[in-house]
Amino acid sequence: MSFSHYLNRWDWDDQYLQSASVSDTQVLAAIDKAKRQHPLDLGDFKTLISPQATRHVRELAQLSHQLTVQRFGRTMQLYIPLYLSNQCSNICLYCGFSMENEIRRMTLTREQLEAELDAIAQMGFEHILLVTGEAKRRVGMDYFRWALPLIKQRFANVSIEVQPLDEDEYHELVALGLDGMLCYQETYHKARYQQVHLRGNKCHFEYRLDTADRAASAGVDKIGLGALIGLDDWRTDLFFVAAHLDYLRRRYWRSQFSISFPRLRPCTGGLAPKSQMSDKELVQAIAVFRLFHPDLELSISTREAPLFREQLMPLGITAMSAFSSTQPGGYSKATDTALEQFAINDGRRPEEVEAAIRRIGYQPVWKNWDQSLSAMGLVR
Ligand code: SF4
Repeated sequence: MSFSHYLNRWDWDDQYLQSASVSDTQVLAAIDKAKRQHPLDLGDFKTLISPQATRHVRELAQLSHQLTVQRFGRTMQLYIPLYLSNQCSNICLYCGFSMENEIRRMTLTREQLEAELDAIAQMGFEHILLVTGEAKRRVGMDYFRWALPLIKQRFANVSIEVQPLDEDEYHELVALGLDGMLCYQETYHKARYQQVHLRGNKCHFEYRLDTADRAASAGVDKIGLGALIGLDDWRTDLFFVAAHLDYLRRRYWRSQFSISFPRLRPCTGGLAPKSQMSDKELVQAIAVFRLFHPDLELSISTREAPLFREQLMPLGITAMSAFSSTQPGGYSKATDTALEQFAINDGRRPEEVEAAIRRIGYQPVWKNWDQSLSAMGLVR
């Protein structure tokens, strides 16, 4: 049974109403459980992500900080996204790459890709996230078959955020060196999902939902989950992200998991958020995921502003992107914002982000040695 079958055990509206009616007594009981470091269940997650728990965000953030330092030390993993293509055959109402948007389209040639890799290597990154639209004839398995080994020769850790693939395709990419796969469900509200995905393969809610199952079954080491915050009620969506995570962790205990918190950003043809998440509520969400699963990678991108990213660093975040360009060719060529997926909020160079991390007493991590040693069979 995959997660799309499992999902039917919860009703969206019930979860929404239960979250809205959480009492302060319930919140204090869940916080007490977290303080005693008792494992939290999904009921506790729902309590702590509720509107009532927002009043206790300071305490949640302190607990999250303590737990993160215990598990990870004062470290921050750095990674950079590399956009291979902005071509896409889907229509998603919130995305600058949506097929109906009249933007200039390009897919990196081998020569252009090598120029991007040179530019990224010079900045010192070892963890790279490959991003594409969903245009499998142009950027599908044939492309990945030559590009992935080329990239893997030069970088320690390579993840993808591309169209959902079949299990045998993930198997093949793992053999070529793939380390991680990110696939955000965008929203777990099926009717809303269908309202904002109008055309293309992404319309298949269940196929997307089961992507993490297929990747984990194929041996992809790290699986990234998330919702696009603002597409629907964010508290309910995050409850479903937590349920998805809980299901996957029980079933695929060898895999590692990562959660991101992308808030809807302006883009070409952009869609207004249906539900707004404030900065304080984002702190709440990060802290509650940390308390829910203490070993989880929690990641924050350059969608957020520099000062706010610095404030978030000690509160549970363990990975962050830096100097991201959301357009293909953006690192080696002069920028052309007409090609980008969405507008970023933190354009600082990697060395500036590194200095900001050191200023608060944290250690930037360019290469995850545990993963490298594990890949060589030296640790498990
Ligand atoms: S969200 Fe992904 S699939 Fe949808 S239009 Fe953007 S790039 Fe294409």
